[in-house]
Amino acid sequence: MRGMTVRYQALRGTRDILPDEIAAWRFLENTTHEVFSRYGFRELRTPIFEATELFARSVGAATDIVRKEMYTFTAGDESVTLRPENTAPVVRAFVEHAFHRTIAAGFPERLYYLGPMFRYERPQKGRQRQFHQIGAELLGAPEPLADAETIEMAWSLLSALSIEDRELRLNTVGDTACRPRYRETLTRWLAPRLPALCEDCRRRAVENPLRVFDCKVEADRKLLEEAPDMAGSLCAPCAEHFDAVRAMLDGFKIAYVVDPRLVRGLDYYQRTVFEIVATGLGAQNALLGGGRYDGLVDELGGPAIPGFGFAAGMERLVMVMGKTAGVAVSSDVLLVGLGEIGFLASIGLARTLRARGLRVAMPLTERPLGAQMKRAERLGARFALFVGETELARGRFGLKNLTSGEQIEVDEAGIEAVVLAERNDHGR
Ligand code: AMP
Repeated sequence: MRGMTVRYQALRGTRDILPDEIAAWRFLENTTHEVFSRYGFRELRTPIFEATELFARSVGAATDIVRKEMYTFTAGDESVTLRPENTAPVVRAFVEHAFHRTIAAGFPERLYYLGPMFRYERPQKGRQRQFHQIGAELLGAPEPLADAETIEMAWSLLSALSIEDRELRLNTVGDTACRPRYRETLTRWLAPRLPALCEDCRRRAVENPLRVFDCKVEADRKLLEEAPDMAGSLCAPCAEHFDAVRAMLDGFKIAYVVDPRLVRGLDYYQRTVFEIVATGLGAQNALLGGGRYDGLVDELGGPAIPGFGFAAGMERLVMVMGKTAGVAVSSDVLLVGLGEIGFLASIGLARTLRARGLRVAMPLTERPLGAQMKRAERLGARFALFVGETELARGRFGLKNLTSGEQIEVDEAGIEAVVLAERNDHGR
């Protein structure tokens, strides 16, 4: 409506990733593609929304995500949900395209993804409603080496991003044979203590007792320190599996702490669960987390195939990545047209240079020299190229290096050679 000013802002819990931040994001993306492909992982891109049922079934009806954090809406007569996580969609695609036909003993399918996820959470530093995850899923491998190797890959990714202040936390949550026993033990232990615990914990005690360990209330955490550990209830195969994973990590010389209180939020985990936290990042310090999910593929209609995977928060990785990671991309050269003839000639020259791969900036209208030089600085251009009547007549142009101030004369081919050499020197 005319006369009324409305100022739109990005919604709470969402944010724009600005051009100045893109270098870091691209560095993160490229490093991920590079590192994951070394381990034989292949990228899979699934839709941003899926049937609501898919998440309710896999993530678990009693989890915070399904209970209160999903962006769910009806389109036509379908209930759809913006993906809150991407393991379930990857497994859905794996089953739908019958990937299991091509896996063989010892040779699982390795898939990875990057992209936005959506959770209606209370926003705070490091926690958004639209955020981005990098994730890897290894399907078809029951071996402890699947766990250890995937954890090692996560560790390598962080190393490649120069994230050194980190800690690996490891635990096992047992399987369908021994977890029910532990659940019982824990439920019995919790019963007389329920009145002292927070409301959330009292609910968890009924719906999914292991989740009490996710409680953030200090008094509760203190009380829960005395609770019995999963370790005391593990069945022999689970205990062996965990020992083997630990021995391999020792072999890889990756340090970890066993944290018996680490249970992870989602229902589908079995046996190994892990998390890597950034030391010194504040409350939301989990960089990535994951674990083994042996029952999920058959739960979602596929064959009984084991899985292991993790997801990392990209915003958090960008926050702690080495400051040198990622070099800003700016213009190579600003074409400074001198006078009308120079300006008109620079239009054609810009096309030629762009076609040859140079990042060229130029004004869309003839501008005075001073204004153009100021612009060159704003753009962070490496060079200014002067295009005037005299230069055109001689076929030689003034090319000024804006960092050193040095100016040389070059012909058309020379522009390309000098500018590209400078770009290679600076690795961008
Ligand atoms: P999860 O899928 O909950 O296991 O989370 C895996 C990783 O994603 C976490 O370790 C965080 O780095 C990141 N993450 C999860 N939720 C959020 C959020 N709301 N905002 C930003 N990052 C998140």
